[in-house]
Amino acid sequence: MEPTTAMPDLIDQLRSRGITPTKQRITIADVLFQKKQHVSADQLLDIVRREDATVSRATVYNTLNLFLNKKLIKALIIDKSKVVYDTNTSIHHHIYNVETGELIDVSPEDLGLSELPHLSGFEVEGADVVIRVRRTHSA
Ligand SMILES: [Zn+2]
Repeated sequence: MEPTTAMPDLIDQLRSRGITPTKQRITIADVLFQKKQHVSADQLLDIVRREDATVSRATVYNTLNLFLNKKLIKALIIDKSKVVYDTNTSIHHHIYNVETGELIDVSPEDLGLSELPHLSGFEVEGADVVIRVRRTHSA
């Protein structure tokens, strides 16, 4: 495996979040942060193993949880059996195609949430919406 030019930045980024940059964490981070993406733990495991076949499932899960705790990624719970990790940590919503599993980012400007209920004694910390769609089957 040849190191990419992104590696020094990546190592700095992990260190700046208090993450010890082990070889396997760097490999996982390199694959994960190559582009903005939504990926399940198993999808990530498949891709990471093409780079380093010795990376275990547990390591991928533990590293995702670590990155999540350090706010490098967000988790998106689609349903009770499907968690997707999102490298776009800015506030945004999603359109989820229930037939293909495709997830598309929607910017907050494109989805107004002006009618949030008034919650006495609480303030809204965040609101992220998943709009589930399927293709219409008109004749
Ligand atoms: Zn997203």
